[in-house]
Amino acid sequence: MRDIIIAGNWKMNKDLNEVKAFCKAVARAFEGRVMGKVVPILAPSHPFLTFMLRELGGGPIKIAAQDASSHTEGAFTGDVSAKMLSSLGVQYCIVGHSERRAYHNESNEIIRDKVLEVMDNGMKPILCIGETLEQRDSGITDQVILEQLEGCLRGITLYTGKELMVAYEPVWAIGTGRNASGDQAQEVHRLIRKWLKDSFSQDLADQISILYGGSVKPQNLAELLAQPDIDGGLIGGASLDAESFLKMVDIAINY
Ligand code: PEP
Repeated sequence: MRDIIIAGNWKMNKDLNEVKAFCKAVARAFEGRVMGKVVPILAPSHPFLTFMLRELGGGPIKIAAQDASSHTEGAFTGDVSAKMLSSLGVQYCIVGHSERRAYHNESNEIIRDKVLEVMDNGMKPILCIGETLEQRDSGITDQVILEQLEGCLRGITLYTGKELMVAYEPVWAIGTGRNASGDQAQEVHRLIRKWLKDSFSQDLADQISILYGGSVKPQNLAELLAQPDIDGGLIGGASLDAESFLKMVDIAINY
């Protein structure tokens, strides 16, 4: 059975006081809550990982990093290694977000190295892939998705399928308020699942959670979760507010 993931990507938002207030609100709301197969995840900026692990570590919310270096260690000023994150107790790490691809020139090859670093250090990568608007309008969405999967996951060994997640995030839907419809997203999620089956096995493909990301909010989450190959959301803007995040976790629990 696949997990249903509600993952908040806070990007470069919130200072310590805002992080504290959020943690207080969600910790109280999660007391005694039965989560079923829902896994809530929050990805704060690196400086707040330790604080959040300490505040929320005993509860149902898991903590993710937003990025890790493609290098193991060494002279890479400002970078943070997967080993460092793992040593803090971080369990998940977003890799290949379209903002990293666009603003930090991350190629599929670099992202593959990050996937390997994250997995080698016992964490689960949340691998982001997705097409731009120009690519969708040119009719090459499938080709772009398959190239990204091939480039980022080529030669990776999986044993259970629980070692990683894939997040389909059409770039045109991120932070724009314009989400893919359930049907549009499902079409790409089906393609991703098929690639996973062809590249690994049916059993492994059946275990891998594939998240949708791009303007997910409480109002459209249920429509997305209704699709057979959508196993949750990677959520930016709507995860910044504790009430909205909790509402999305509730929608997933009651789904
Ligand atoms: C994201 O940050 O990955 C994202 C999908 O953002 P938003 O939900 O704001 O579109």
